[in-house]
Amino acid sequence: MKRVLVSGASIAGPALAFWLVRAGFAVTLVEKAAELRVGGYPIDVRGTALDAVERMGIRPRLRDLHISTQRLTFLDADGGEVVSLAPNEIIGGAEADDLEIRRGDLIRTLYDLVRDDVEVRFGDTVETLDDQADGVDVTFRSGRRERYDLVIGADGLHSRTRELVFGDEKPFHHYLGYCFAGFTMPNDFGLFREGLTWSTPGRGAGLYAVLDSEQVHGFLVSARPEPPLEAFRDPEAQRDLIARTFAGDGWEIPRMVAAMREAGDLFFDVVSQIRMPGWSSGRVALVGDAAHAPSFLTGQGTSLALVGAYVLGHALATIPDHAAAFAAYENRVRGFVEANQALVSEGQATLFPATAEALERRNTALRQLTTAAPAPPRPEHSALTLPDFPVPVR
Ligand SMILES: Cc1cc2nc3c(=O)[nH]c(=O)nc-3n(C[C@H](O)[C@H](O)[C@H](O)COP(=O)(O)OP(=O)(O)OC[C@H]3O[C@@H](n4cnc5c(N)ncnc54)[C@H](O)[C@@H]3O)c2cc1C
Repeated sequence: MKRVLVSGASIAGPALAFWLVRAGFAVTLVEKAAELRVGGYPIDVRGTALDAVERMGIRPRLRDLHISTQRLTFLDADGGEVVSLAPNEIIGGAEADDLEIRRGDLIRTLYDLVRDDVEVRFGDTVETLDDQADGVDVTFRSGRRERYDLVIGADGLHSRTRELVFGDEKPFHHYLGYCFAGFTMPNDFGLFREGLTWSTPGRGAGLYAVLDSEQVHGFLVSARPEPPLEAFRDPEAQRDLIARTFAGDGWEIPRMVAAMREAGDLFFDVVSQIRMPGWSSGRVALVGDAAHAPSFLTGQGTSLALVGAYVLGHALATIPDHAAAFAAYENRVRGFVEANQALVSEGQATLFPATAEALERRNTALRQLTTAAPAPPRPEHSALTLPDFPVPVR
């Protein structure tokens, strides 16, 4: 039985593991964190990714976990209401099948699907990779050494697998000019199945109450010309940076900053894309954000990860030669990925305008949504047709 190491147990990793197990591979899943990282803002599953979760048999479960948000209210710098909308006024009726799910719920669902069928190692990470003609020799931080037939990096935007095989992140990293902090905090706001988005030029904040949770998801987004690389290795520096950025802001921002300081699940990152000329080398390939992070501004990261995992799993299940399988995976997915990455470009985050003029334009557009016909579907992001998997799933 061929052995595959998958690095990263978030979305892409467990989804790929699911398909590899069905295709007859022995899979090891290694995750750097000591346990599943279930934090983060709710994520979307849409377009072709709905087909992928249908094929995994989890679409009904995800529909149960769907967050039926009733209202989204946009606020100005003082907390005054700009406009309050039902979500379908923003996303358009054609996308009523979209699923919006707490990131942790999706990760747990995917992990539960594979946990009994794969070897899982939390709290460990790949230290070195030696890609030989007949296998990849891997040493782990724990000191363990193993040989695998294939290694797949599903370890996110700052992928260690990518660094080991393709070198420094810099040439692949396209910074979009924003930083993002997400965390949960007590729902002391009386919010119920609704979201609030606060904006001032260059800074945005959100509170999102989903399902019947006593917690709300908070986020703080800020425009920055340069990525604050110095803050990345130090969580305290991240918290200080966010607090400095939002110092003096009104509405509930002081309360959010205080909660961010205390949050155990703070997720802080640059808003960036990964664009690479190729996603594999020898016996190593990348999937999900590691290969092609589109940034949260597209709302497509999770969907692309689910689709990429399916297509890579399918390629390895149907094409015995790994190099040919990796090429087939990339051929099928690349155009789809690039179309989705093109949904945003530098400094053009429609939801979080960096200037007063852009903010006014956004507000005008939002107000018009209440009087206009439902929004047309977003630009193409669901055009990929998935091939049938060669073996039955259950
Ligand atoms: C904690 C967290 C919170 C997030 N919050 C949001 C959010 O609020 N909004 C949003 O749009 N996107 C968020 N994301 C990103 C989002 O999950 C991805 O864009 C998307 O779902 C694609 O998933 P992925 O599996 O490719 O990558 P990711 O979800 O980034 O997962 C990568 C996984 O690899 C693990 N990992 C990293 N390095 C190593 C290593 N060296 N060895 C082993 N494992 C490693 C990570 O711990 C993580 O579990 C978050 C990601 C994380 C990890």
